Amino acid sequence: MNHTRFLTAVSAARQPSPIRAMTDLLMRSPPSVISLAGGAPNPDTFPFKSASITLNNGTAIEIGETLMKKALQYSATPGVPELVSWLKELQKKLHNPPTLTYSPDKGQMAMCVTTGSQEGLSKVFDMLVSPGDNVLIDAPTYSGTLAAVKPLGCNLIGVPTDQHGIIPQALKEILSRWRPEDVALPEKKAPKILYTIPNGGNPTGASLTTERKTEIYKIAQEYDFLIVEDDPYYFLQFSKPWAPSFLSMDIDGRVIRADSMSKILSSGLRIGYLTGPKPLIDRVVLHMQASTLHTSAFTQIMILQLLQQWGVEGFLKHVDSVIQFYRTQRDAMIASADKWLTGLAEWHSPTAGMFLWMKIHGVPDTHQLIMLKAISKEVLLVPGSAFNIDSSEPSSYVRASFSLSTPEQIDQGLERLASLIIAERK
Ligand code: PLP
Repeated sequence: MNHTRFLTAVSAARQPSPIRAMTDLLMRSPPSVISLAGGAPNPDTFPFKSASITLNNGTAIEIGETLMKKALQYSATPGVPELVSWLKELQKKLHNPPTLTYSPDKGQMAMCVTTGSQEGLSKVFDMLVSPGDNVLIDAPTYSGTLAAVKPLGCNLIGVPTDQHGIIPQALKEILSRWRPEDVALPEKKAPKILYTIPNGGNPTGASLTTERKTEIYKIAQEYDFLIVEDDPYYFLQFSKPWAPSFLSMDIDGRVIRADSMSKILSSGLRIGYLTGPKPLIDRVVLHMQASTLHTSAFTQIMILQLLQQWGVEGFLKHVDSVIQFYRTQRDAMIASADKWLTGLAEWHSPTAGMFLWMKIHGVPDTHQLIMLKAISKEVLLVPGSAFNIDSSEPSSYVRASFSLSTPEQIDQGLERLASLIIAERK
């Protein structure tokens, strides 16, 4: 696949930063190499010496003096190499992408560590979206994505979804405005990307089925567009086997996948990773060379020490315990919704993630109800309009999160919501 036609003028114009290239080289050099090259500060002058971080299971990860110097120093832009290798093993085990190989020269697929998936995604949009482009996107969708894409001056085309995510037939209908041969004609503005959240969607809680993903991938091949797979709730799929990802189906090199450690290791440490065709990941890395330089090396080393101690099996065991927690929370929220909201609202029980998406009966726009009345009743929710492409468009939906509150608080919160809806409808 030739990825050149997908790039914005800005992305195509990016050149490597010579000093950054030197840092990457130094990271891979043996200790005998004498570097008079880089502008790296001397870590002996830094005030931090070592760290011991206690884990919930009582063990600890140690960052000794030598490792601490590495953690406090500038590092390679695509990520600390040992962490990238660990994550590649993980991707291979979970997705076995048809085009992922381990040689940076031969492989078509590449990875880089990002400061949360949000950094990776916003750089992916900067790389691919030019003013006037048509961009296909789940409707409704994550407000952080809308914040990253809207200012790029593109035309967002919302693809209708249900509890199983994007409806392939609806996607086909949208694309029937173009003929597949229009793809070769830039003036026809056939969509070049589809952005989707495949599991436990934010805000809808929807998860795409394998059949739908296969169908959507075929449509992407027919109309030659890229799929941006934003999957921070992948590890929060409540039942096994987990659905195969778009990445696992990607025989062409048209999928860019954003993963996140935010929901399973820490949201504040800011760790995510992109996996995708090497020519595209390389462009994101060039953008990072000119902006963040790299994700915090301390964060990466801390995570790496943990992952090396756990191994992939230990990591997946931890993920299982997180799933257990969210599944119980989901069950508590559904039980309370059944108790208080039956007849007042409708919903589907999510199979992944941390959100319940409810359609409120008899309230065509939930904005006032949630932003004024619910707040004064001391229950916080998000009105559906926050996730509309045009946020001034009314929505009868509400997003409730079951991540932070106890089952008792969830029960009280939904009881308060029920009384608000009853008062509103009088
Ligand atoms: N994408 C979606 C769909 C999200 O829900 C979130 C966070 O809530 C993100 C991306 C950003 O996650 P991160 O913390 O990895 O930047």
